[in-house]
Amino acid sequence: MALAAEEVMLLEDNNSLNIRDLDSIIIDSQKDDQILEIVLENEKSNPIIQVVPIGTLPFDISNYVQLDVAPKDFNILESIYRPPNNYKFPRDLSRRKLKFQFNWFTTWPWLAYSPSQNGAYCKYCVLFGPKYAGKGEQKLKRPVNCPYRRWKDAGENFENHQNNLYHKNTQNIISTLRAIGKPLKIIKETHKGTSLIGQPFGSTIQNEIIDVCNDLILRKVVANINKSPFFSVLADESTDISGIEQMSLSARYLYSENDEVQIKEDFLQFIPIQDMRGECLADTIDVYLKKFKINVNFMRGQGYDGAPAMSGHLIGVLSHLIKKYPTAIYVYCSSHSLNLAISDCCSIPVIRSTMGTIGKVYEMFKYPKRSNVLKNILAKEEFGNNHKLVKMCPTRWILRHESVAVFLELVDPIIVALEEICGWTDTSVVAEANGILKAIQDPEFLLAINCINTLFCHTILLCRALQRVNQDMVQALILAEDAYNAILQI
Ligand SMILES: [Zn+2]
Repeated sequence: MALAAEEVMLLEDNNSLNIRDLDSIIIDSQKDDQILEIVLENEKSNPIIQVVPIGTLPFDISNYVQLDVAPKDFNILESIYRPPNNYKFPRDLSRRKLKFQFNWFTTWPWLAYSPSQNGAYCKYCVLFGPKYAGKGEQKLKRPVNCPYRRWKDAGENFENHQNNLYHKNTQNIISTLRAIGKPLKIIKETHKGTSLIGQPFGSTIQNEIIDVCNDLILRKVVANINKSPFFSVLADESTDISGIEQMSLSARYLYSENDEVQIKEDFLQFIPIQDMRGECLADTIDVYLKKFKINVNFMRGQGYDGAPAMSGHLIGVLSHLIKKYPTAIYVYCSSHSLNLAISDCCSIPVIRSTMGTIGKVYEMFKYPKRSNVLKNILAKEEFGNNHKLVKMCPTRWILRHESVAVFLELVDPIIVALEEICGWTDTSVVAEANGILKAIQDPEFLLAINCINTLFCHTILLCRALQRVNQDMVQALILAEDAYNAILQI
């Protein structure tokens, strides 16, 4: 094994060995377990042979514990010293004379054993993890900054260690950067020698990882689309959190695997939009589909909502794209259309304020102290733990169905919880709880919420069906007809 000297940390202690200036180090671990022979080569290729006692093993994990600098190369993980399988681990002083078990290396692949410390460490966390973590950012102890030797509880403690968030983060980052395949460059550029995890990634490295993942996923999706005999483009636009208009572009296509053909809908990309006119949007779709290397000649469908910029016959994306691709038939998004219809029905002031009140109830109970009051009441009344209020979705009505249904189911425990909160000393919370309590006991509210629920019971099936990727059109029409008739009979 030969490594560049700069990548090897090390032993300037009692053996007065300084290998920092050397070109490489070769280790022959075939020798005796307790003695390691190290062959050092200097610039003039003059080999110097040194026999080093085991306590000063250069790749002993304990040598890395105090280092503030993360190694530059993940390959160091493979170089960390691991005793051979016939190694005689020292027994402890307990009655059972326990010792480190070799098979632990298989069960917990992050485990490293330090012969000098007779202790176990997590090599991932020691090399690339944070020094501090958890509540109050405490200095980590076993098996990161101190050797672990409590063999009796090893199994349980090792399991606990690998369930720690900081360990999982460290492991994720190591595997992500390894998968990307060029960790050295990324780490050198962005970390300038600081510890990897804790505050591991600046925005540059995060964006670089996201870009690489995006590229890989997109290539895979595009390959699938190009295998399909035809595809449809689906697009919508909305404003992101920073106020930039984004167009979301997806494709619908046939996907076959093992002679089984299915319809797939895959998201392609968000594209920032400067000009919202139909012509520009159409150009953007055209340019990006080509940029992704999708064969646009096989476009047979276009699906948008009813906004004039998208589906307007003269100015919309549709009218421009259809000139270029006459076989790409436009289909109005039915789910969106249903959404608009329900939204219109709910524009009556009483219904709108009822929706607003349900939203306030959700907001009221989103804080832990308050939600615990509700949880305790639910537990007492044997509702179980799975009952949670659902946030009123501002755009998707399918989620509002759920918010209303769950609210109605939990209305009694909610009233009890609000009454309990009204007894607290915090006046602003009491005022809020009181206001909501009055509102949800108002007969008008109760009448309205039951009306909404009755209507939603008839539309939810249709709503869900229309969002299915493989919904049959004829079946959808039957469902729509059924919902329509049912509503007429209310
Ligand atoms: Zn760890």
